[in-house]
Amino acid sequence: MKVGVPREIKTHEYRVGLTPAAVREYVAAGHSVAVEATAGDGIGASDDNYRKAGASIVGSAREIFASCEMIVKVKEPQPSEWIQLREDQILFTYLHLAPDPVQAKGLMKSGCTAIAYETVTDKFGGLPLLAPMSEVAGRLAIEAAGSALRRYAGGRGLLIGGVAGVPPARIVVIGGGVVGTNAARMAVGLGAEVSILDRSIARLRELDELFGGRVRTRFSTLDAVEEEVFTADAVIGAVLVPGASAPKLVSREMLKSMRRGAVLVDVAIDQGGCFETSRATTHAEPTFEVDGIIHYCVANMPGAVPLTASQALNNATLPFGLALAKKGFTAVLDDAHLRAGLNVHMGRLTNRAVADSLGLTF
Ligand code: NAD
Repeated sequence: MKVGVPREIKTHEYRVGLTPAAVREYVAAGHSVAVEATAGDGIGASDDNYRKAGASIVGSAREIFASCEMIVKVKEPQPSEWIQLREDQILFTYLHLAPDPVQAKGLMKSGCTAIAYETVTDKFGGLPLLAPMSEVAGRLAIEAAGSALRRYAGGRGLLIGGVAGVPPARIVVIGGGVVGTNAARMAVGLGAEVSILDRSIARLRELDELFGGRVRTRFSTLDAVEEEVFTADAVIGAVLVPGASAPKLVSREMLKSMRRGAVLVDVAIDQGGCFETSRATTHAEPTFEVDGIIHYCVANMPGAVPLTASQALNNATLPFGLALAKKGFTAVLDDAHLRAGLNVHMGRLTNRAVADSLGLTF
């Protein structure tokens, strides 16, 4: 199959659909890959790196959309991209169609087959193409907390790990899923005192086992959240209730009882945030202060580390992408997990949850 990788054009998006290592895998499997010039700049991959991996470099996205059978991207297509898609093409990328009727209608009009990374499933009931970004965001959350805790950033002036004779920071992670586990791992690694709260006892059991007593696990009641948050130096909001906005677990009122200069990192901000006082921020201005508490609420945290994030994303997308390149649409028919990723086909929405939230016909 002829596979194409346009340069990402969404503002501040530096990741790339295929890394040179992934291109090499496609080429080894007998496919041809066309990459738009400078598409890898954001991860330090030059056009020459891509040529060495076996890609051909083309001057414009237009040539990619005109000549390729499958387009592999990172972010949802922008209007200038979706108008170039056709019914004989597969689009493989993050789509996030539910809140985006304009894009949904654009893709339906194009007639293309659009497979959304975020709805592809695995045999464990997870979302394998979303998980790598949660891993990245969870690990970054502790770095973000560490920066915000510095005095010049408005924080308590505390070093996460403390030093000999001086206690470390108390870090509270609310939500012990992929983000929460990765945040806890980093916090433990730095020597912090860590609590994880979750509503799932089964998950708390797994975490207890995983960390071998190195973290405190607590069932997430209102009492437990208050107790933990009031004595925390940093709180990581990492909850997810599938298909719903994040529950508001820390109210504005509660901020008054927190330590001055403590930090709230709301990773769940992309689902509306789990702290009442959260509002989405950007990497350019990641934090703000409310009642003496520093808030970090960047909605696209992995964008800060496009090299790591592109590699992690490519590791996860590669087997699915190779199957699509080998079998075309038949790969979707053959694999229930890839089929779960199918959002648009022949002008129709093919994902019930997406159709329902858009109020369109499934
Ligand atoms: P996940 O499903 O793996 O984990 C969520 C956890 O929250 C589950 O263990 C669940 O039991 C727990 N939970 C639900 N309600 C709770 C409550 N009231 N109290 C305590 N725990 C509760 O999800 P994830 O992959 O870890 O993602 C977490 C959030 O991070 C999601 O909103 C996701 O979209 C977001 N995210 C944001 C970024 C970013 O850049 N900001 C990047 C990746 C993921």
